[in-house]
Amino acid sequence: MPKKTPITVAYGDGIGPEIMRATLDIIVAAGAALELDVIEIGEKVYLAGNPSGIAPSAWESLRRTRVFLKAPITTPQGGGYKSLNVTTRTMLGLYANVRPAIAYAPFVDTKYPDMDLIIVRENEEDIYGGIEYRQTQQMTEALKLISRPGTEKIVRFAFEYARANVRKKVTCFAKDNILKLTDGLFHKIFDEIASQYPDLTSEFWIVDIGAAKLADTPEAFDVLVLPNLYGDILSDVAAQIAGSVGLAGSANIGDVAAMFEAIHGSAPRRANQNLANPSGLLQGAILMLAHIGQTDVANTVQNAWLRTIEDGIHTYDIYKEGSSKEKVGTKEFAQAVVARLGQKPAQLRPASYRPSGSTNVVAARTKEASPERKALVGVDVYLDWTKGRPDELGAGLRPLGADRMRLQAVFNRGTVVWPNGLPETFCTDHWRARYLGNDGMTLENRDIIALLERIGAAGYDYIKTEHLYTFDGIPGFSAGPA
Ligand code: NAD
Repeated sequence: MPKKTPITVAYGDGIGPEIMRATLDIIVAAGAALELDVIEIGEKVYLAGNPSGIAPSAWESLRRTRVFLKAPITTPQGGGYKSLNVTTRTMLGLYANVRPAIAYAPFVDTKYPDMDLIIVRENEEDIYGGIEYRQTQQMTEALKLISRPGTEKIVRFAFEYARANVRKKVTCFAKDNILKLTDGLFHKIFDEIASQYPDLTSEFWIVDIGAAKLADTPEAFDVLVLPNLYGDILSDVAAQIAGSVGLAGSANIGDVAAMFEAIHGSAPRRANQNLANPSGLLQGAILMLAHIGQTDVANTVQNAWLRTIEDGIHTYDIYKEGSSKEKVGTKEFAQAVVARLGQKPAQLRPASYRPSGSTNVVAARTKEASPERKALVGVDVYLDWTKGRPDELGAGLRPLGADRMRLQAVFNRGTVVWPNGLPETFCTDHWRARYLGNDGMTLENRDIIALLERIGAAGYDYIKTEHLYTFDGIPGFSAGPA
């Protein structure tokens, strides 16, 4: 008897308990060696007054087993409830979200029968810190954070994943034609790391045209690595066009822990009717089996599941008159998969998880580079101002640079409005004044404090500052006027 791997299991809400029972029945029948530790998460926990939907005692289980098979949960209506998924990802450091988007044509309807794509989405950075501000009557702001170590981890993971799972190409999408520093860093690191994997093809697309290509010709892609927001959006697009939203599983991987789930929610209207399709959670469980090294079981389950789909034994959501053979409930579907354990699909590509493959790749860390020389060369001062025209603002702010700084430009929503602004430019109440050190002079924090005092004393309402640094002489801030 192989050694049992301890895993934490949550049955969730809505259809969760039914699809979890079906999933566990199948994988246990296939010989999965698991020791289950069941925890409570979701609606009941939220409503018992725990805003994160998970009790403190459940963390002990997760920290012990480090493997979490999670059914979907219902987030109660109304404010104040934190996303359990976001909490779990950040608390356990699950930086990689792996989402296969695979077509099962001709057995499941899809416009793209050859689609077989893995999306690797960065899970911890970008706008998902949810750091937002309202700064004036008219303006709100969100922070997008992209770090070198965060990007190195996810890009390396994508290449290691591709190699371990015998994929051929890794593609990156970002918007670095506009976001030159944040998405620019993502692109730069992608190129750096791609050069260390000469056995794999690599390519980069601007996300807008890349997304269009993905929606039009998804079979052109193999493994896609994306910053958090683009990954969030495009992994749903990919699952939808593959025809597999109800069939898709997902893995969230970190260095010490991992979580596996279906991509759909708790579908409360379908609950307790033996209707729901357990395939999404089963796909999550298969990724889990491969991750914990039970690759033979993963392959056995996947092959039996593919065979069941081929045999036309379908739950209501994928049942189609003519091509499907039998419409079954959750339990009967699970029984049909169990009955096919040991069989292989006749047409669909059989499973090929390998012991060293799956999601169980640890992205080696890049060695710390020596730090670049950082110099403070200016400051952007944000102002709440409604008292006149941009040239009046520029004229008022210009002398305040005093002897150590000069006002280079005033911007409104990213557009230069002083000097030489156009009267046509629409302006809000949110302004940005860029001061640079005179004659390239390096500044100190006290220069900025003195500047703010002068600005405040002149009657302007400054609402935020952003220091302007160079790193080894290269500006670490978006460009001013040409
Ligand atoms: P949903 O994915 O739960 O359901 C949308 C529709 O898809 C359902 O009405 C149903 O027709 C169909 N569907 C989904 N899964 C199915 C399955 N396994 N078998 C058959 N049909 C299925 O999305 P929703 O209705 O927007 O959200 C319901 C609840 O789920 C919300 O409380 C939401 O917050 C939560 N949610 C949880 C997760 C998660 O736990 N990971 C993810 C998404 C949504």
